[in-house]
Amino acid sequence: MSDKNQSRSHAQEQFLSVLSREEAIARFDAALFPREVPNEVVALAAALGRALAQDVVAPIDVPPFDRSNVDGFALRASDVATASESAPVRLSLNDEEIACGTAPKCRVAPLTATAIATGGPVPRGADAIVMIEQTEPAGLQQLDVRRAVTPGQFISYAGSDMARGETLLRAGLVIGAREIGMLAACGIAEIAVTRAPIVAILSTGDELVQPGGVLAEAQIFDTNGPIVAAAVRENGAVAQFLGAVADDEAALEAAMRAALANSDMLILSGGTSKGAGDLTHRIIARLGAPGLIAHGVALKPGKPLCLAVCDGKPVVILPGFPTSAMFTFHDMIVPVLRRMAGLPARADAKVAARVPVRIASELGRTEFVMVSLVAGNEGLLAYPTGKGSGAITSFAQADGFLRVDALADHVEAGSAAEITLLTPHLRVPDLTIIGSHCTGLDLVTAPLARAGLCVRTIAVGSLGGLAAARRGECDLAPIHLFDAKTESYNTPFLDESLTLVAGWRRMQGIVYRKDDARFAGLDAHGAVAQALGDPACLMVNRNQGAGTRILLDRLLAGARPDGYWNQPKSHNAVAAAVAQHRADWGMTIAPVAEVYGLSFLPFAEEHYDLALVRARQDKPAVQAFLHSLQSDETRAALMKAGFSPV
Ligand code: AMP
Ligand code: MG
Repeated sequence: MSDKNQSRSHAQEQFLSVLSREEAIARFDAALFPREVPNEVVALAAALGRALAQDVVAPIDVPPFDRSNVDGFALRASDVATASESAPVRLSLNDEEIACGTAPKCRVAPLTATAIATGGPVPRGADAIVMIEQTEPAGLQQLDVRRAVTPGQFISYAGSDMARGETLLRAGLVIGAREIGMLAACGIAEIAVTRAPIVAILSTGDELVQPGGVLAEAQIFDTNGPIVAAAVRENGAVAQFLGAVADDEAALEAAMRAALANSDMLILSGGTSKGAGDLTHRIIARLGAPGLIAHGVALKPGKPLCLAVCDGKPVVILPGFPTSAMFTFHDMIVPVLRRMAGLPARADAKVAARVPVRIASELGRTEFVMVSLVAGNEGLLAYPTGKGSGAITSFAQADGFLRVDALADHVEAGSAAEITLLTPHLRVPDLTIIGSHCTGLDLVTAPLARAGLCVRTIAVGSLGGLAAARRGECDLAPIHLFDAKTESYNTPFLDESLTLVAGWRRMQGIVYRKDDARFAGLDAHGAVAQALGDPACLMVNRNQGAGTRILLDRLLAGARPDGYWNQPKSHNAVAAAVAQHRADWGMTIAPVAEVYGLSFLPFAEEHYDLALVRARQDKPAVQAFLHSLQSDETRAALMKAGFSPV
């Protein structure tokens, strides 16, 4: 085997192994940079948000001449050195008034003055301006000056703002309104900026439907395409979103070749898992040298990230899961895109926070944990938003993220962390609600949001909410916990630091499809008896710890029908399973049954209340929440949605 072949096969082997994040970035950078950043000349008005291609040197002085800053009189300072209220100095007025835009004609001779407006050019001979308020007209063409002036008073000298030949703006600077002002002041109408790279974007997957279309069974809406297109634009590049391509090698290769021919960079998403569905990396190998740079990065979220360079153009395959796609784009692709666009590196704002809960992490992968920030008793707290990388909201609703080193397998509860913000301005919520989520809650907080208050709701379940409330990490913890001993809801779970605010009742009941004759005419107990007697009848359960699960277990009285181990974590998932024939019956709340068009047999009313942290009850946002809860408007909205306010 020749040396060349040997090194190539060695390289191929490496591609198949997972690289560390840092190694992947280093190899990608080495294959792409340095590279020329092309420029283009644009009209000043079109330059907003673009990066300057060259330094800008002032072509003229600004102001172009010595200019008066006030309405007054141009004179010689030495003439009025002794002037005061009690002993004004009398000057004779020259036969000229210098308005803005008027070039002076007369010289200001000793013991004379010339009327001048703000912005008027200072006439020859004058060395200061006295304000009109400090003078008095005195007889014909004469003026009394009541105050001494220093030489240069109220004069802006030529070039004092911008001096001809001075470097005003540096290459790479992003042009904003202020820079446009500076360029306009020097008369610059066109400016060289870096050309925005054209980024072609393709989604891959047989299951994808574009928003606006209709979902058939087993299909989902294309999320990554619109996200990446928007994020590309946010980072100064031009996005060409080309839609979704099916998982078909020939179709995908054709689409990728066409996309690459007309762009500076190609970003795909999905199809990166190693296996039968893995088409894109095979195609990349045929698209141009050097091809694959990294296939798999020890990064979470984002392990299946694929980086390639084909004929000098970056080709990136983002993971299919939206949060993984967004995060890897943000972390690894944005820096490359900005360099290609001639933009400075993004300046990430960072804040210090404490992590209130233990975070488990995978050893060997750099993990980025999306967090929501809330105000604790001592400083900021960073709550993991934790819906996983398949959830769009994990990234979309996070305030920032923290980094867990590849060598750590957890972050201890209570430890300090540095949070990188995802938005330039952190807004600490006015009201923090941590606990069990209910769509009714959104109806109560709606008036607060309309009044400009920032409300943060973090869903961690009733018990998690109570723990957070006891630790002073939130203002309110919504709970619905049934205590079997006292046969009562919520109150038995409070301690002295908390007080219960009555919320609303939610009717729990058995759901089934409207056309399922097996349950017709039965009540909840009857329906469960019927289901237990029919081996073909499949149930859907709820997760351990859910209030609904407690009710179901009481109804089942020890029975374990088929479907018992299907234990989704939400009211909606139960309804979806029944509506989509993955189960025939389950228990959920009435408003959810209604939304899914299911028949509903009422079983028990559940109490959804709020544990209020006493120490925080006087906060204006807490008061606003309590006020909303009691308002006629909110009560009507709750009732309309199927809840019974207490
Ligand atoms: P894949 O890498 O193609 O196997 O995709 C992994 C997961 O991400 C699957 O659940 C896909 O349905 C999902 N996914 C892939 N592409 C997209 C997309 N453009 N929008 C939303 N989800 C996607
Ligand atoms: Mg796919």
